[in-house]
Amino acid sequence: MTFRFANVAGRSALVDSAGRWFDASRVSDGVISVDPMAAWLQVEVLHRVSGTIDNTESDGNLSDADVRPPIPSPRSVFAVGLNYQSHADESKMKLPNAPLIFTKFPSCLTGPNDPVILGGSTDDYEAELVVVIGRGGRDIRPKDAWGYVGGLTVGQDISDRTLQFAAEPAHFDLGKSRDTYGPIGPVIVSTDSFQDAGDLLLTCEINGERRQEDRTSNLIFDVPTLISYLSGILTLSPGDLIFTGTPEGVGAASLRFLSDGDVITTTIEGIGTLKNPCRIPQEAHR
Ligand code: ZN
Repeated sequence: MTFRFANVAGRSALVDSAGRWFDASRVSDGVISVDPMAAWLQVEVLHRVSGTIDNTESDGNLSDADVRPPIPSPRSVFAVGLNYQSHADESKMKLPNAPLIFTKFPSCLTGPNDPVILGGSTDDYEAELVVVIGRGGRDIRPKDAWGYVGGLTVGQDISDRTLQFAAEPAHFDLGKSRDTYGPIGPVIVSTDSFQDAGDLLLTCEINGERRQEDRTSNLIFDVPTLISYLSGILTLSPGDLIFTGTPEGVGAASLRFLSDGDVITTTIEGIGTLKNPCRIPQEAHR
């Protein structure tokens, strides 16, 4: 049975195809943990219980709920640079010989409708498919890799370009890890929900204007390759996130960066939409 998993006000939730949410602990008689991180260790149970929610009363519509990052505190958040040919071209960079991996620190994660707090005058958007590891492991072969994926979600790899390139060689990590620079959600969709989990339409709009549009089948290093590569170096854990890279159309290519009041709308077919307003920091937080 397929599932859609969410974090509503800090509690694990299952979501049906109509967008109604169900408290996961309630509908499982306490079997599924209230805590989203602990519930994510129960992926098999999520599959099973998801098949029983159709005829039960929901807790409301997800669109009206306090939706938070479905994985709020993963052990690791990996991201991949230059993983679409079109984006490598617009960045005028050579294609990497191996996956160009950097980290987004988990503290940057934020909810699907939360504000992005701008770091300066060169904040940029990057719409990305995010892989959520379901079963951990080492030395995973590409042909087995999808079996380690618990589900897929939508992500924004927000980037402060000035900070990203402040040092030489560039250090991507900090420039992409300011607080609120990692919106994810609104749900994690189990991979068995898709006809082809490796070919999904990804779009990004700024104030309703389409800036990015591509299919995840155009990834240079695809999901199995990334999982195999990473797990050959380190142990992947349940809940680890992999931001798989962004296609062409980022603000840096046209020098149109994010400003106060802009709304970033990021959608992946079959998963859902992030809608993040941009804000400048409050004086008190500086
Ligand atoms: Zn990125």
